[in-house]
Amino acid sequence: MNLHEYQAKDLLARFGVPVPPGKVAYTPDEAKRIAEEYGKMVVIKAQVHVGGRGKAGGVKLANTPAEAFDKTQAILGLNIKGLIVKKVLVAQAVDIAKEYYAGMILDRSSQRVVLMLSKEGGVDIEEVAATNPDAIIKHFIDPHKGLRAFEARELVKRAGLEGNLNKLAQILVQLYNAYVGIDASTAEINPLVITTDGQVIAADAKIVLDDNALFRHPDLAQLREVEAEHPLEVEASNYGFAYVKLDGQVGVIGNGAGLVMYTLDLVNRVGGKPANFLDIGGGAKAEVVFNALKVVLKDPDVKGVFINIFGGITRADEVAKGVIRALEEGILTKPVAMRVAGTAEEEAKRLLEGKPIYMYPASVEAAKAIAGMVGGGKQ
Ligand code: GDP
Ligand code: MG
Repeated sequence: MNLHEYQAKDLLARFGVPVPPGKVAYTPDEAKRIAEEYGKMVVIKAQVHVGGRGKAGGVKLANTPAEAFDKTQAILGLNIKGLIVKKVLVAQAVDIAKEYYAGMILDRSSQRVVLMLSKEGGVDIEEVAATNPDAIIKHFIDPHKGLRAFEARELVKRAGLEGNLNKLAQILVQLYNAYVGIDASTAEINPLVITTDGQVIAADAKIVLDDNALFRHPDLAQLREVEAEHPLEVEASNYGFAYVKLDGQVGVIGNGAGLVMYTLDLVNRVGGKPANFLDIGGGAKAEVVFNALKVVLKDPDVKGVFINIFGGITRADEVAKGVIRALEEGILTKPVAMRVAGTAEEEAKRLLEGKPIYMYPASVEAAKAIAGMVGGGKQ
């Protein structure tokens, strides 16, 4: 479960991480009043569950209350990666000398929380990870010992951070304590700022909570905001699908999380970009497949769909019937590449014969075909 920046900062503050004072506003007037109260420069920040708000125009500095009003007006209603901004955080602005990155995620293969630290923080950390991975150091935290102060200090030095090293190290320990204390699956401070007067402060925070542990935190479970989630994710969860919106053009439907993940990788490998993850689960009937197509095709980014089914308890002929219904009801207006194998494969192929669906015997061919059809893709 994703938290908003202001919620993440509140939680981190409980564990001692310094964050700039801030309040949430729903209207330009509210933002103006908060700016008046602070009486200094503020930063207006879109509160939506995606990163990269800065680049999308969702983070703006305001020197005066009047500016806070105008900037809030400009940010409210913005569409950032499919999410409409309904509220902003008005926070006291910090004077930035340096922007560092500190993040933690769970590394399943080592079964440890991995701390990532970089002196190249700020808005382009993804690019740093892609082009200069050595600039991000990693440390796998022993779950029995936790992150100890001396380790944190060593890491801060190894990453080449400058400034108050003890304070930086202390924040890493606090971040780890928060991570474990609230059962997070991701906790990130980017940027972790060194101010011009040498303070260390978390200017942005991102926390994802582990849904499987929410029962241990009824207070945190209340932070869920259905309306802040992607509308298609809400619709999909009403149908009981595991659906995640991604930012490509190839809609992906499969049965079983493993097969769907594999299909996403495959689409990427042949040069396409998946628009979503959608798992119809096991034993899906025609109606489930029809609903899955309905959700995927509602996404305006989708230019074509790849249906990858391995028939086990899911019968391929049921899948075919769902696709045919989507054709008959006129919702399937984009190209579909399909690979079906396993239970009732022959029946499925018979049902789909002569229908405007591209059938392929192997996943990789289907992936190449659909990537080619939506533009992009390499052979
Ligand atoms: P994100 O783009 O969604 O990660 O949003 P951030 O909160 O990280 O803001 C993006 C960028 O805006 C930061 O990397 C900073 O460069 C800048 N920024 C954010 N808050 C402040 C602030 O209080 N003062 C100044 N000067 N810049 C800020
Ligand atoms: Mg950020």
